[in-house]
Amino acid sequence: MIYLDNAATTRTVPEAVEAMLPYFTEYYGNAGSIYRLGSESRKAVIQAKETIAATLGAEPNEIYFTSGGTESDNWALKAVYEAYREKGKHIITSSIEHHAVLHSCEYLKRQGAEITYLDVDADGLISVEQLKRAIRPDTILISIMYANNEIGTIQPVREVGEIAAAHDILFHTDAVQVYGQFPVDVEQCHIDLLSASGHKFGGPKGAGFLYVSKKAKIRSFLHGGQQERGRRAGTENVPGIVGMEAAVKRAYDTADGKPAAGKLERVKMLRDYLISRIEQEIPGAKLNGHRTKRLPGNVNFSFEDVQGESALIMLDMKGICASSGSACTSGSLEPSHVLLAAGQPPELARGSLRMTLGEENTMEEMDTVVEALKEIVERIRVCRL
Ligand SMILES: *Cc1c(COP(=O)(O)O)cnc(C)c1O
Repeated sequence: MIYLDNAATTRTVPEAVEAMLPYFTEYYGNAGSIYRLGSESRKAVIQAKETIAATLGAEPNEIYFTSGGTESDNWALKAVYEAYREKGKHIITSSIEHHAVLHSCEYLKRQGAEITYLDVDADGLISVEQLKRAIRPDTILISIMYANNEIGTIQPVREVGEIAAAHDILFHTDAVQVYGQFPVDVEQCHIDLLSASGHKFGGPKGAGFLYVSKKAKIRSFLHGGQQERGRRAGTENVPGIVGMEAAVKRAYDTADGKPAAGKLERVKMLRDYLISRIEQEIPGAKLNGHRTKRLPGNVNFSFEDVQGESALIMLDMKGICASSGSACTSGSLEPSHVLLAAGQPPELARGSLRMTLGEENTMEEMDTVVEALKEIVERIRVCRL
């Protein structure tokens, strides 16, 4: 099997599995309990916050554990709206956000919020000028993703943060595709809230976090017990948190919060090799996303006269796991909202294919994939004639 869907989820790294096991079998106490067994769990949660905070240049009490990226995004948007409603009701986001952000915005709109969706150019980049023009006296939040999960485009996050800070507006970024891949500095980028998810970087599913700067007021999202300083009730997912911490330590395995040298370079090299072979050898292939401001493992193409789903099924028969930019909604094939926002005609957007690489992929696999794709694209086109 060749796994090329690391943007959907990753294999849990052995360090994470190993770190988690004792928290199921030995240290299973509730982190809120008084006795020593509980304090083992409590210590582990506190330690994980310290580890994560250090990688961001944040403080441990600015990290709140959640069930993952979706919860973190929902929490950030809904709680900021609630806490700052007196100040204003205007939120700025982009048209290519993950649905966890877009659908939260739709929900808030029904509650009375006003939302501005920034456009993107053909590479998927927002315009900083349009952002500046969109700001109003009642703007309370700018939510722009760090990098896009479909096309891999990395946004000018630092510039966005500087603009937000200059206008005294909170800045949230969905960093799910970035945290655990390359360095993120919340202070340098003026990030007030940041969403991350463990299973996107080698941790277990169901564990993530929301960074909330101590400058930002935030309301409780899940109401109940006093966990997470009363802001996120529910018994802590201690094994998940410990597993995510182990994945963080592996991702950022130096003291300065930077990823291990060479790791990113290797994935980028595989990415660029795959991109260049597809461009040279498959006619009618169009690279989606920015060529250089791009996630290290992201390859996304649209193929003329090809349905993404057909290609996926044929790739699967050859043992290759990839993904298409489109989602099947109630039987109709909806082209990706990201590609449409980037100005791609629906016909071409339906032929998109995303392959997201990870540390475990090899050069031989890239060659196998190109040969398989050549054959598949040709076969689909012949069938259509
Ligand atoms: C995967 C993903 C999410 C959702 O994270 P989960 O932990 O799966 O809920 C949100 N945003 C982006 C950009 C993602 O890639």
